[in-house]
Amino acid sequence: MRVRNTKKRKQRYLLWISIFMIFLGLCFFFLWMTPKIALKGEKTITININSIYKEQGAKAYYQGKNISKEIQMDGKINTKKQGTYQVVYSIKKGFFKRKVTRNVIVKDVESPKIELIGDETIYLCPGSTYEELGYKAVDNVDGDLTKKVKIKVEKDQIIYTVQDKSNNKATLHRKFIYKDIEPPQMILTGGEVFSIPQNTVYEELGYQAMDRCDGDVTKQVKVTGEVNTKQIGTYEIFYEVEDKEGNVQKVKRTVYVVEPQKNGTIYLTFDDGPKQGTTDVILDILKEEGVKATFFVTNGGPDSLIKREADEGHTVALHTASHNYQTVYSSVEGYFNDLQIVHDRVLRITGQDARIIRFPGGSSNTISRRYQPGIMTTLTKEVLLRGYRYYDWNISSGDAGETTSSEGVYQNVVRSLSKSRTNMILFHDTKSYTANAIQSIIRYGKNNGYTFAAIEPQTKMVTHSVNN
Ligand SMILES: [Zn+2]
Repeated sequence: MRVRNTKKRKQRYLLWISIFMIFLGLCFFFLWMTPKIALKGEKTITININSIYKEQGAKAYYQGKNISKEIQMDGKINTKKQGTYQVVYSIKKGFFKRKVTRNVIVKDVESPKIELIGDETIYLCPGSTYEELGYKAVDNVDGDLTKKVKIKVEKDQIIYTVQDKSNNKATLHRKFIYKDIEPPQMILTGGEVFSIPQNTVYEELGYQAMDRCDGDVTKQVKVTGEVNTKQIGTYEIFYEVEDKEGNVQKVKRTVYVVEPQKNGTIYLTFDDGPKQGTTDVILDILKEEGVKATFFVTNGGPDSLIKREADEGHTVALHTASHNYQTVYSSVEGYFNDLQIVHDRVLRITGQDARIIRFPGGSSNTISRRYQPGIMTTLTKEVLLRGYRYYDWNISSGDAGETTSSEGVYQNVVRSLSKSRTNMILFHDTKSYTANAIQSIIRYGKNNGYTFAAIEPQTKMVTHSVNN
């Protein structure tokens, strides 16, 4: 009985062990048959709205092998819209499936930007109060936040703050320094360049000086320099003024004492040359008639003709190198660069520092509006400040298109001549019908009591009114 009992117990024990072993085996079997998956990177990622979401992926193993390539990904992220998105990575092998999830939070994490109108450090007149110069605030999501900007004024600064809907904050400071750093501004009545005829009386034309902090300081202006109107030449008058903080402004007026207008003088002026075949014909006639003229040259034609113009006592003047309206009238810098080229050409050929100029199309041209509105207003002042003198005309021979015959050129000139003024006549020495009309014009002038002259630095400027 006791032996049987022991035997029975032994059998039951073995049975339990077997069941347990089978269970353990099954466990290992399931574990072996189940794929494993894990995220690469963080489980929760926050990215800025409108930025790019970079997928980091996941890795998966099955029976000790890397099967990451078989991972299926689900879920869409709209980076243009705020919210929480999910990306699900799953892997399946037989009946066994596993998955992991990543949370992607798209939100506005960018601060608005504040932009100040005016400098970040500003100088205020001592004792004055600050007046807001303005500002702008823009947010990547909320757009224009200018109206939401809060301003705090402190003793020596202003603090601008703004917050977007996602509570991103921006702060900017504007500093004050109570000091006058600007010299007074001075305006010369009558301009910075002025011409007066010889033997007349020069009187101070007047001036005004205003300081940003001190106000009108005209009475403090010191004037030095003299103009001798008995002597033809260039004179300079200096104006100097200082404000309370010691900021000094200096301005200069250039005064030309010029020949009194000689009525009945004819200035023959030729543009656009030199040109072989026409300029040389004109030079021959001028030589034969003993008449001096003015040539406004460009970069075209042979050097030898410019040399001949100078050698035979004519005035070599400048008309720009390219004569291209777009090149010379698109910018002030473009004009002076082009003028410099022809200036240097004349200097190289003749040794002369030519200072007499004529604008292509004249100072009254309107074509320059197409390239730079207002440029003639600037250039007509700037050329004088740079030591040039420009001459337009008061008689046009019409040889640029109105007429193409010598008879036409002759008639246009002769009927416009006047003894009660100077006669500044526009010709083009690039036209053969002009060359052929010159001798008759000179003969007419001589027979009717006119005199001929070339433009010289002291010749009174003949100028059109500016239209641009
Ligand atoms: Zn021209």
